[in-house]
Amino acid sequence: AAKTITGTACLHFTPDMAQAGADNAHLGAELREAIDSGQLFLLYQPIVALPDRRVIGAEALVRWEHPAHGTMAPQTFIPLAERTGLIVPLSRWVLRTAVSQLSAWTSAHGDDAPAVLNINVSPRDLREPGFAASVSALLAEYGVAPHRITLEVTESMPVDPQESAPTLSALRSLGVRVSLDDFGTGHSTLTMLHDCPIDELKLDSSFTQAEPGRAPVAATVLRVADSLGLRAIAEGVETPDQAARLHELGYRSAQGFLFAEPLSPEEFGDLLTSAQAA
Ligand code: C2E
Ligand code: MG
Ligand code: MG
Ligand code: MG
Repeated sequence: AAKTITGTACLHFTPDMAQAGADNAHLGAELREAIDSGQLFLLYQPIVALPDRRVIGAEALVRWEHPAHGTMAPQTFIPLAERTGLIVPLSRWVLRTAVSQLSAWTSAHGDDAPAVLNINVSPRDLREPGFAASVSALLAEYGVAPHRITLEVTESMPVDPQESAPTLSALRSLGVRVSLDDFGTGHSTLTMLHDCPIDELKLDSSFTQAEPGRAPVAATVLRVADSLGLRAIAEGVETPDQAARLHELGYRSAQGFLFAEPLSPEEFGDLLTSAQAA
């Protein structure tokens, strides 16, 4: 690698970066192929009520079964998808797959199916003209009521309120819910929260997992949610202590390895069947 970084703060091009660029181009071409050829799949992590741990929802999380590299986590390809614009067809695939799964669970499990399915979308999707209309058409195609999906948008990337507000408003007038993911890590201001048409805040796992004495953020986020009339979900709950503390603070919904890992559709179906039996 080139070791000499001269003086200024600007970015210097190195052979490593050239290689990374080539790898990215290669992976980008493979990802394009993967979307069309069925190499992506979704796992579903339960969202539970506190304190009884009843399953009240789920979040769809994408994986890539790469022919050579095995199962790849979203962090390894979502940023690439964002940069190349492949996120748009990827999100389209995720939305269709998730909505079709929700419809299948509803047929098989009735009222025991998750009441709401959370689906991650990119700030970039919100800038696509016609995005809300395509979501509406998809829900109609599968006979899924709009209030049964929540679209999660990460707060860790800037969402331009000017550009995304029309789409967010259109989604909400359909009845689709909107959630700010990774909340507390990013770019939202209280003004934006007040002005943006959103329904839910997901407390970032770094605050869920903070030491007891150092966790005023979890309490503050809940108060902000309450005062704006938003739902709050704590994510990344790993220990009974964390769950108890969050419940004490007033959180009524949570998600994390303590309750369940992301599950295959079959595993999730089994969970619903055993809940039905209980
Ligand atoms: P996220 O939306 O905040 O999703 C939560 C992540 O935390 C998931 O990682 C989940 O597996 C993980 N997690 C759940 N419970 C725990 C826990 O108790 N402890 C810890 N340490 N982690 C936990 P995953 O599936 O690797 O996804 C990472 C991120 O990739 C997601 O973060 C989301 O931002 C993005 N992502 C995942 N699926 C999609 C998708 O379909 N579309 C888009 N645009 N982004 C996605
Ligand atoms: Mg999410
Ligand atoms: Mg999250
Ligand atoms: Mg997160």
